[in-house]
Amino acid sequence: MPTKLQLFDTLSRSLHPIKVKDGDSFRFYCCGPTVYGPAHIGNFRTFLVQDVFRRTLEVAGIKTHHVRNITDVDDKTIRQSQAEGVTLKDFTDKWTQKFHEDCAQLNMLPPHEEPSAVQHIPQQIELIEQLIECGHAYTAEDGSVYYKVSSFKNYGKLAHLDPQALKTQSTSSSGATNLADEYERESINDFALWKAKKPEDGPNAWPSPWGEGRPGWHIECSAMARHYLGDTLDLHAGGIDLIFPHHENEIAQTEAVTQKPLAHHWLHSAHLQVEGQKMSKSLGNLYTLEDLKTQGHSPAAVRYLLISGHYRQPLNFTADGLKAANSALQKLEKLIKSLLEQANKYPSDWASYVKPDIKAWGIFQSAWDSLCNDLNIPSALGHIFSSSREIGQTTEEKSHTLLQALGGLIYALGLPLFETPEKVAIPDSIQKLAAARWQAKQNKDFKASDEFRDELLKHGWQVLDQKEGYTLEKKP
Ligand SMILES: [Zn+2]
Repeated sequence: MPTKLQLFDTLSRSLHPIKVKDGDSFRFYCCGPTVYGPAHIGNFRTFLVQDVFRRTLEVAGIKTHHVRNITDVDDKTIRQSQAEGVTLKDFTDKWTQKFHEDCAQLNMLPPHEEPSAVQHIPQQIELIEQLIECGHAYTAEDGSVYYKVSSFKNYGKLAHLDPQALKTQSTSSSGATNLADEYERESINDFALWKAKKPEDGPNAWPSPWGEGRPGWHIECSAMARHYLGDTLDLHAGGIDLIFPHHENEIAQTEAVTQKPLAHHWLHSAHLQVEGQKMSKSLGNLYTLEDLKTQGHSPAAVRYLLISGHYRQPLNFTADGLKAANSALQKLEKLIKSLLEQANKYPSDWASYVKPDIKAWGIFQSAWDSLCNDLNIPSALGHIFSSSREIGQTTEEKSHTLLQALGGLIYALGLPLFETPEKVAIPDSIQKLAAARWQAKQNKDFKASDEFRDELLKHGWQVLDQKEGYTLEKKP
């Protein structure tokens, strides 16, 4: 029954079937947020594409192992925490929690693992030591360690850089180093794996064989992906802006040591524009979820709009788009309500239909096929609406079967429907308690997790654990 799932791979620039290569689950790594402020909708577009991808795998009957990191040490986090006069940990904890709250409101499944750079310094040091040992990295006088780009013959393969131009550039800039985490193609020099401590880093330095310092940005993903998922991932994902230099550098770091491909498949989602313009601080259009909620938009409409374009095409995020997303959600609810009535069920029964195990797609086969064909969400949505128009009056049994298929599609798309007003209006303080309980539970600190649960109950909120994640319910 399940259609073969295939996806465009950035490295080979072609469509490839998605399947588990080793073991029993599909192992994939997504570059997570740098927690120095609230994530904006451009970041969320990328994370939501990954969320729909994972949900689609689950509906296709493929078990997943999803790892997404938290970057909690870099130039920006250090600079901002010092500007606010708080420790790096307190600062990054605050923004990590905010990120979790936003993810929960956007109905994203939490990753199975969420490692942070600071918690994995030894793994990063070990990888740097291996790179030095095999001649791909060297120590500078100040105690920083750099990757020797000219030592890796496949450098540039993901970003499709011109090898000849690269060669000329590396000859002319031989020995030049680049301490920045992010840079343009024109400034490819040896990049930093370990940054020696500078006075402006304050107390944020860790001991290493090369003296006190901190890891560069790129090494954390190579080290953590390998630690949690092994030498070769089934898939590595991120926004298109990460192809160069971040993912190119991850390939150079990991493959130089393992001599194996870092990933069988590379998934990149395109940029987001706002009202036809590039997102930028100066234009003031780096919207956060909070901004949009303040403007009266629901997280469900934001989610719908952000996933409604094809992930390989730039998406234009507009106020009209949000309105259209809202009416599309209402249309879906109307359709489902009428099917529930014909199946002698209530709206509260809908949740039991939203699950990944589907037996037959029936008239929704084309919608499912669209998702399987390079995650074509706009086409899937189009098919859902056009197939629904065929339904009309139907029997109780048929309605039940249609609801099952529709439930599978809505699970894959992760669209929250029939949100009660109480559920939409969960106060921030309650969201925070629930996120803290979830984090404690992830850390296996069950005592703390129980205390948070009791605290929530005291405020009249019950937390309901799902297979992945949780929901909150207001007690009467
Ligand atoms: Zn990364």
